[in-house]
Amino acid sequence: MTTLRFLNGTKTIGGNIIEIANGDSRVIMDFGVAADLAGETVAQAIEQHKLPNLPDLLLPNQSTKFKHQAIFVSHLHLDHMGALRYLQNHDIPIYMSADGLKLYQLLMDQGVEPRVTNLQPLADQETIQVGSLKVTGFLSDHDVIAPMALLIDDGQHKFLHSGDVRIGGYHQDRVERWSDLVKNQLDVYLTEATTYSFVSEQPQMVTGDHHEPILIEQDLPKRLTDKIKTTDQVLVVNPYPRNVERLIRFNETAAAAGRPMLWEPDYAQLIRAFAPEQTINEISDQPANTAPANTNYHAWTQLEAQLLKNPRQFTLQNSWANHERLQAFDGGLYLHANGEPLGDYDPRFAQLQDFLAANHWTIESCGASGHAKREDILALATKINARRTVAWHSFKPELLAADLKKTKTEPWLPELDLYYRFD
Ligand SMILES: [Zn+2]
Ligand SMILES: [Zn+2]
Repeated sequence: MTTLRFLNGTKTIGGNIIEIANGDSRVIMDFGVAADLAGETVAQAIEQHKLPNLPDLLLPNQSTKFKHQAIFVSHLHLDHMGALRYLQNHDIPIYMSADGLKLYQLLMDQGVEPRVTNLQPLADQETIQVGSLKVTGFLSDHDVIAPMALLIDDGQHKFLHSGDVRIGGYHQDRVERWSDLVKNQLDVYLTEATTYSFVSEQPQMVTGDHHEPILIEQDLPKRLTDKIKTTDQVLVVNPYPRNVERLIRFNETAAAAGRPMLWEPDYAQLIRAFAPEQTINEISDQPANTAPANTNYHAWTQLEAQLLKNPRQFTLQNSWANHERLQAFDGGLYLHANGEPLGDYDPRFAQLQDFLAANHWTIESCGASGHAKREDILALATKINARRTVAWHSFKPELLAADLKKTKTEPWLPELDLYYRFD
């Protein structure tokens, strides 16, 4: 007998975690936070459903009945891995894609992520045996590097966790491939349903009182090029560092348009790690010893003077941590590319808007969603045609469930913390 227990994320975006157990074996899919902890203890956070109800992993000195267990992380967004830092069991292996693991190591080196032990790489289409359970990872597409969909097989039943997924992105072929491999075979398909959450289908940044056009990832290089060509003032871009592929494309695009990117050191390090052949302009003093090849160093004080004199010389990446640097200039164009603060729900977003307005900056979007549109979520679930489809990672999963009633797969809206048996 296998049991499924939903630990978070059934009616909300973020923190979706499921435990799948069979005898003395269990696997846990994702390990994110459902909400930021605000000073409460881990025990309190478990009670408030910010952390999953897994005291044997999260509280000290606990025993466990599982002889074989592992955590699998679909991708490196905080709502899928932000609870790893609270693990008290340091023996449990944590699997993720090889490039996801590479990014995690870099983020730990940068001090962005606290140290976590026992991280293990999972190759595309590799199967890991965890006692009586088998888990296979498939590379997928989302707005973070190397996301995975995860297949769990107990020998009699198959369950698939979609992770977060985008349709029509640069890696559409990967989504086609894993969905082809599992279609008509699953007992349960767990699909993210982020876009079934809002009044408008695609949440987009709103600036002032007008809505920005909805862009897809492939539109962004052209949009950046257009802004480079038409902006005489200082041009700033704020992307999210974990979307490393976008950083690499912006670096190429800006160079090709004759206005190369200037990167803060952490961003430069990520590009160097994943695209070592690229020329990188890094905002920092020349390091004393061995400087990496292909990197040009620019001290900020000099850059400030250079950009005041000739704003068209560079395109400036700027993170929230360094936003006050922009006070040096008399306005400019700020392209928001899904960096932090990401949107209205983050109180820093209003601070950013106020800061830019006070300093005569215009803000525009140069970002794209990492989530499939509603019709694409529905089409994917219809194609996969599992016996049951769980809609989660959504504020309104019942909307997808209603759409699924018109298809052959049976919608399922499970409750938190119950044990659902598969005999
Ligand atoms: Zn997510
Ligand atoms: Zn995500």
